[in-house]
Amino acid sequence: MTSHELRPRFWETVEMADMTQAEWEALCDGCGKCCLLKLEDEETAEVEYTNIACKLLDLGTCRCTDYPNRKAKVPDCVIIDMAELDRISYWMPRTCAYRLLAEGRKLKSWHPLISGDRNSVHRAGISLAGRMVPEDHVHEDDLEDYVVEGLE
Ligand code: SF4
Ligand code: SF4
Repeated sequence: MTSHELRPRFWETVEMADMTQAEWEALCDGCGKCCLLKLEDEETAEVEYTNIACKLLDLGTCRCTDYPNRKAKVPDCVIIDMAELDRISYWMPRTCAYRLLAEGRKLKSWHPLISGDRNSVHRAGISLAGRMVPEDHVHEDDLEDYVVEGLE
């Protein structure tokens, strides 16, 4: 097996900690919700999602436009790995494949690994493709106006 090959149905058969880098990356369903600005209540840790997108997010495909250099360009960007997962999963969407597997649940039918189609996540309405605004179009005093319910 080369490092780019994915083992058959690895998401069901391989522990997350034992996945190759290619398998780990393939777990991402491409929803882009982790790249949306979120508002967190400091006292309750409750998180609200907005439809305000990180400056590097492609608003149509929900993919990062400079994934290899994302941390250098956006220092707040969180690199999701096993070490971080416990700490960050409370603010990740419940539909996120990393969170689903970490909680012992299954991938959904619209996940590209199940459907075989990268666009199924958009067709299922899981992503906000075409419904986001770029962060540089929003004044910081107006953030509350962009909260979207039901994305958590
Ligand atoms: S929320 Fe999870 S599945 Fe969606 S883009 Fe982020 S890491 Fe990928
Ligand atoms: S820099 Fe990080 S948060 Fe921004 S679009 Fe890329 S992966 Fe998402």
